[in-house]
Amino acid sequence: RPALLDADFYSFQDVLTPVEREAAARLRDFLEREIRPIADDQWDRAEFPHQVIPGLAELGILGPMWPETARFTNSAVFRGWAALELARVDCSIATFVGVTSGLAMGSIGIGGSTEQRAAWLPAMGRGELVGAFGLTEPLAGSDTARGLRTTATRRGDTWILDGAKRWIGNATFADVTVIMAKDTADDRVKAFLVRKGTPGFTATKIERKQALRTVQNADITLTGVAVPESDRLAGIDSFRDVAKILRATRANVAWQAIGVSVGAYEAAVRYAREREQFGKPIGAYQLVQNKLAGALADITASIALCVRVSQMQDAGVQRDEHAAMAKAFTTARMRETVARCREILGGNGIQLDHGVARYFADAEAVYSYEGTHDMNTLIVGRAITGHQAFV
Ligand code: FAD
Repeated sequence: RPALLDADFYSFQDVLTPVEREAAARLRDFLEREIRPIADDQWDRAEFPHQVIPGLAELGILGPMWPETARFTNSAVFRGWAALELARVDCSIATFVGVTSGLAMGSIGIGGSTEQRAAWLPAMGRGELVGAFGLTEPLAGSDTARGLRTTATRRGDTWILDGAKRWIGNATFADVTVIMAKDTADDRVKAFLVRKGTPGFTATKIERKQALRTVQNADITLTGVAVPESDRLAGIDSFRDVAKILRATRANVAWQAIGVSVGAYEAAVRYAREREQFGKPIGAYQLVQNKLAGALADITASIALCVRVSQMQDAGVQRDEHAAMAKAFTTARMRETVARCREILGGNGIQLDHGVARYFADAEAVYSYEGTHDMNTLIVGRAITGHQAFV
């Protein structure tokens, strides 16, 4: 059977079922055909290619973990592998999927009632509706667990939301944004479905980003936004519940980081074979081989780690520190890998047309979102020592 990924040196893909492998191969074909040719230009123009959403939905990667939306039986390893494939071609598209499928549908899947799930998940799984997830705020990034300023005040059967959110992916065009806010009565974090066009809700695109430029991130303001009690996700009633959503998505971001590494590595291998200096391909020199061998080892170690963390998710034994270690480890390896690959391309490494520059820039966002490298490291440190070092 055809190998999915040359950079999968130890053939970890063998843990996927035949159906999953076929789905991953279909995803790869789609990405090569529909996304690869436009990825650099979209990134350069900082525009999102809305026309690809139905195709992504057809592949069954929007909400594959919910009974309402799963198109075939699939494991957390498959969902991670899909994130890798997406990021290998374009991490902005991987992020778009991560937000609508992982964070937004994840919030509804974990915290929503049967009625809410039925109302939103199928249409989101078909890509007809897009979701966003608003946790981060201008004044609360790493400490969203304690520091949220956005408030929710109950008035009868209506909640009034006031505050601001920052960095919210997809929010400029999303049909629904999950807003996390503190209940003014009990100070607990609650989750609300804010529909597009709700009065008092504005989402303004963050311009001049230098990473993941294709993703549309927004600054949100909420001024007296009225949300009916029927649009509150009652299953989310504390930050502990929010952490359940993040645990799964964080592990997927660990997989995304491998995809970014693989995308840059493949371009660097091609370049090293073709580019000649001093009468030989640069790939014939020991120092270049050392960089490529190091990158491949880091990719291989990262896949091993992520396969295991996803298997633990399927087994229901994955804890926060497991996902945190995977995310911290693979993003650190990614940062080194894209830098080595950039170096192999010399000057061409900083120009979009040669296949590494976009990965090099995007890596910085992946390193910091869904918990910075520091925060994920401190979550592991807490598990090791029993001491919480970040408060
Ligand atoms: P800060 O928390 O201000 O941290 C700044 C620095 O201080 C970091 O290096 C951090 O590690 C360090 N630091 C902070 N506290 C400590 C401590 N106690 N000990 C040691 N070091 C510390 N959020 C959403 O809710 N929804 C989204 O869709 C979304 N999408 C995003 C997309 C992109 C491209 C980006 C860049 C961000 C996105 N985010 C989103 C927000 C993201 O999760 C935050 O940027 C991230 O959690 C870090 O928060 P911050 O940027 O405010 O950094």
